Amino acid sequence: MYRRHRTPLFLLISFLLLLGCADPVADAAPVACEPGLVESIDMDRTMGHLHVLVDEIGPRVASSHAEREAAEYIARELESYGYEVEIQEFPRDQVVSRIEVVDPADLRIYPATGRIEDTPAAEYFQLTGEEGITADVVDCGEGACPAEAEGAIALFAQGESDAGDLLAHAADVGAVAAILHGNDWRRHLTSVEPDDAVLPFVTVNVEAGDALREAGGVRVTLHVEFFDTSQNVIATRRVEGDPDAPVVVFSAHYDSVEQAPGASDNASGTSGMMEIARLYANVETDVELRFAAVGAEEVGLVGSRYYVSQLPDHEIDRIVANFNTDMIGTAGELQTQLFVNTLDGDNVVARSARVARDLLELPEESMRAPFQRGASDHVAFHDAGIPAANFIWRDPETIDLEPWYHQPHDTSDRISRDRMRTAMSVVLLASQQVICEAGAFRDEVPGATTDPTEEME
Ligand SMILES: [Zn+2]
Repeated sequence: MYRRHRTPLFLLISFLLLLGCADPVADAAPVACEPGLVESIDMDRTMGHLHVLVDEIGPRVASSHAEREAAEYIARELESYGYEVEIQEFPRDQVVSRIEVVDPADLRIYPATGRIEDTPAAEYFQLTGEEGITADVVDCGEGACPAEAEGAIALFAQGESDAGDLLAHAADVGAVAAILHGNDWRRHLTSVEPDDAVLPFVTVNVEAGDALREAGGVRVTLHVEFFDTSQNVIATRRVEGDPDAPVVVFSAHYDSVEQAPGASDNASGTSGMMEIARLYANVETDVELRFAAVGAEEVGLVGSRYYVSQLPDHEIDRIVANFNTDMIGTAGELQTQLFVNTLDGDNVVARSARVARDLLELPEESMRAPFQRGASDHVAFHDAGIPAANFIWRDPETIDLEPWYHQPHDTSDRISRDRMRTAMSVVLLASQQVICEAGAFRDEVPGATTDPTEEME
């Protein structure tokens, strides 16, 4: 692909610059240039953030309560490191479903909203209200509800049946809502014609369906709610007395798709970025640092595009690089190569990543930088003319992501601490190099934009 060999001269210059920056006899040596900062990465702390986002908060669907809760957690943490933190809200219509299991309390079920065809979020009409619907879950098999289904939530193994027929049957027997599941562990979505949407309904994967069935006598509160606001968390460390200082922006999306707890995608990148923010909090540098935890990425890069759209031109001009982390910790067996995805071929982020790889003595095949790919928040920065790249683990042969990408199996036990640490070390060292050289190798203005309709990682 775009694999290019770095010249020995470039490497030598980079090494010299790093050494020069780290000169211990220089007055007030800028710590930002010391390669040793990677030794301070605290993986326990990083994994702690990941567990809060994935196991305490769970799926963080754009605009949901959970996404907001995650934003507030990230904001509190970044503030505690000494950053100036803003929660930047923006409009985003979304219908979000949630199942709160009342009994047994330790059962976790992550639903997806049943789709009503041709119905935008703002007009979705099978909502439960904020208080939700609390009722017993009654097994209706493949479409035959027992008498107890009256006043209950009907659970269907959808199989080959038409979802509309199942909802009609549930309504006939007096059920108040329905849960449908498919036949495998992958997330399961279903949609019905507006006339068939006679009840609030959600879908789950087969494992969640079986868990509800096997637990027996489960009581839940089902929420299907409309929300209209998502948010970014922006942490800034300005350079005192220099409002025109160059800026380096780190970004990572903290939202997830429905049904997926979003450990790899993207509590990993968010947690890694938070730890990098902690490490940078007290370093000496003449570069302004910003950490943007962005919302609503999975629904079309909405948060990052909003953030960039609000920046005046003179601020965009100050931004020398964007380091985006999305899916930096997968334990997927085949995802052994760290891709540094750009839209403009080689740029300052990809170059500095290669230098970081060499400083870390990682094998050449451990990284592909640059690789041409959008599908994450670096696109929003690139489109504004900012050199940007996304860091992500993929299968070097097939380019595939892990098999549980965007699925209910994207859980914290499928995260590799080692891969997290490697990716974080690369991003930290690469960004240090850019920060040390502060704008000296500002890139050419990038070229074409990408197709915003492609799936978001
Ligand atoms: Zn993602």
